[in-house]
Amino acid sequence: MPEIKKLLVANRGEISLRIMRTAREMGIATVAVFSEADRLSPHVMYADEAICLGPAPSSESYLLGDKIIRMAKELGVDAIHPGYGFLSENENFARLVAESGIVFVGPSPESIRVMGSKLAAKQAVAKYNIPLVPGTEEAISDLGEAKKRALEIGYPILIKASAGGGGKGMRVVDNEGEFEEQMQRAVSEAKSAFGDGAVFIEKFITSPRHIEIQVLGDQHGNVVHLFERECSIQRRHQKVIEEAPSAVVSEEMRSAMGKAAVGVAKACDYYGAGTVEFIVDDKLNFYFLEMNTRLQVEHPVTEMITGKDLVREQLKIASGMPLDFKQEDLKINGHAVEVRVYAEDPKNNFLPDIGTLETYKRPQGPGIRVDDGFEEGMTIPIYYDPMIAKLITHAANRESAIDRMLRAIDDYKISGIQTTLDFCKFALTHEAFRSGNFDTKFVENYFSPAVLEPSFESKELELLAALAVEFFTNSEPKSNSQNKKSADTAWRKRLN
Ligand code: ADP
Ligand code: ADP
Ligand code: MG
Repeated sequence: MPEIKKLLVANRGEISLRIMRTAREMGIATVAVFSEADRLSPHVMYADEAICLGPAPSSESYLLGDKIIRMAKELGVDAIHPGYGFLSENENFARLVAESGIVFVGPSPESIRVMGSKLAAKQAVAKYNIPLVPGTEEAISDLGEAKKRALEIGYPILIKASAGGGGKGMRVVDNEGEFEEQMQRAVSEAKSAFGDGAVFIEKFITSPRHIEIQVLGDQHGNVVHLFERECSIQRRHQKVIEEAPSAVVSEEMRSAMGKAAVGVAKACDYYGAGTVEFIVDDKLNFYFLEMNTRLQVEHPVTEMITGKDLVREQLKIASGMPLDFKQEDLKINGHAVEVRVYAEDPKNNFLPDIGTLETYKRPQGPGIRVDDGFEEGMTIPIYYDPMIAKLITHAANRESAIDRMLRAIDDYKISGIQTTLDFCKFALTHEAFRSGNFDTKFVENYFSPAVLEPSFESKELELLAALAVEFFTNSEPKSNSQNKKSADTAWRKRLN
């Protein structure tokens, strides 16, 4: 059994730190990698050793698999954790790591290959009786044939890149008249973004929820699931708010989805931590979408409700140990919510808003967890995913976990950059979210920049407040700026 004594984390930011924290608890030495843009990042400071990979662009740093392996060997590293994104779902990297005698903290290269292609994944699970979204089972290139199949499936349909990911490579087609143009676009986008033009057709589920199941498998054939995560609040097909458990999943549905997820994992001889994604229609039928063969961004909500440290489990599995608990040992404890704090401007189409964290104060207190990778004064680099932090709350039930999140959002002080926090606050107080009655169209259906603008009335009040402050300060000749400030705060308090 390979013992892991020194771990290199081939990633950056919050996930790199999160992984190293567990490694440290397990007595494992840590090695960070960084690009020139991340030289002073907390993940670099935290590690026992750190190596610079090169200039800021990922292609010249975090994606340099060969260089990372070479450096790992020089430093006597015995395992590499890829985190998420970057090299985490790169079959070739996983293979090269193993070939150089280093443990890859993740599944086998073969599992990554099968699940990395949405089409190969569908084919692999077909014999396991897993429900699939109605659609084509193979890549489709002939236009006439594609049109015929689309008609059989019924509009609206979705054209998807088999190699797609990160919410990219998908096109909705509402009717036959648009099919040809969208198909051509889909193929050329798939080619340029993923280097593989294979596309397929799926029925477009009009009011879908995205619900996924966390699985863990060891190298001895044991696979368990750690319940579901509800990830339906998305923008651009990418998640912003996640929670566990889901408000709509019954005990019966949970066990059916769990069983299907374990089946998907077994279909590719899976070991390690993985996520099986399902799309759920308005009648609560669920269909397999894809499997992510890595640690997921939103894994903390599962950790909060199960009490399991998923990174610890990953490291134990990678070193060959069997799972030391069974399905029936796992129980859901309370409710957890996560909001992703992105450097994005919700008022401007969620476009990245890069700049300096002039103020950065984290919320604290019972049931609050912040996974982040920045400090006050740091600049969010333009080269990578603009996520600043993940804010997670845990409480006895859904209501309290949401209330706790609203308090935590109010206590989170960030200035210098627009973030998704205001949007998350809007979503978490919205009747649709509170009642649990929402789908992936939440943003489209309920959100507009105007909901974040102060209302007309409160703008008028603010004007009155300003006049009052002016009046008090001018009528008291001795008043100093301190007085003015407290009058101002008093008014603001009343306005909030
Ligand atoms: P999760 O389901 O864990 O939220 P995401 O789909 O948001 O995962 O992806 C996690 C990270 O990996 C993001 O930074 C995303 O941009 C990146 N990513 C995922 N798949 C791909 C891909 N095929 N190509 C490029 N980046 C990807
Ligand atoms: P990615 O690899 O980019 O994560 P997924 O297949 O997981 O691709 O889809 C991402 C998101 O797109 C889902 O969470 C869901 O919101 C939406 N989506 C995917 N397939 C469908 C479908 N057939 N009908 C409606 N929405 C879909
Ligand atoms: Mg997905």
